Amino acid sequence: MSMFCWTRPLQLTLALIKPDALAHPIIFEAVHKKILENNFLIVRSKELYWGSTDSQKFYCEHSGRFFYQRLVEFMSSGPMQAYILAHEDAVQLWRSLMGPTKVFRARLMAPGTVRGDLGLTDTRNTTHGSDSKESACREIAFFFPEFSLNYWYQEQEILYRTGP
Ligand code: GDP
Ligand code: MG
Repeated sequence: MSMFCWTRPLQLTLALIKPDALAHPIIFEAVHKKILENNFLIVRSKELYWGSTDSQKFYCEHSGRFFYQRLVEFMSSGPMQAYILAHEDAVQLWRSLMGPTKVFRARLMAPGTVRGDLGLTDTRNTTHGSDSKESACREIAFFFPEFSLNYWYQEQEILYRTGP
């Protein structure tokens, strides 16, 4: 059992196990284990299945890119697992554990990362992670509209407030 000993407010990020990874229990277990081994607190988790409208909306920043259609179809091709993860450095830590977006870069330059070890193609690359604190807030609201981010960050401020 791991010991949790945080000294700073816990930041939140949105992590997704994409359909390629959730389709295979061994891959799902490996990604889930990576989350636990790195002492993330799992604040919320749920399985969901996107229609193409959800995929288009979530990835609208990429509309017009050559891979957009492929990406949207893939993301609505099967169930996914969404997580709100908390850690002192949640956004950056989850991004670095995932590894680079493109599978060959991940394999060659980042072995040991989720995408480096388990990614299949540039599209089917196992996982998503928010790329900034602002994206994390937007994406958490997208997946977990009932979750209060304001409440979370207010509580963290109270817990870790320093000074008089
Ligand atoms: P991420 O933040 O690392 O997931 O990368 P991006 O935000 O740039 O892209 C979103 C998703 O689109 C990626 O995770 C991939 O699934 C897909 N994607 C990005 N770039 C490419 C590409 O060059 N080719 C293909 N086929 N898919 C891509
Ligand atoms: Mg991105």
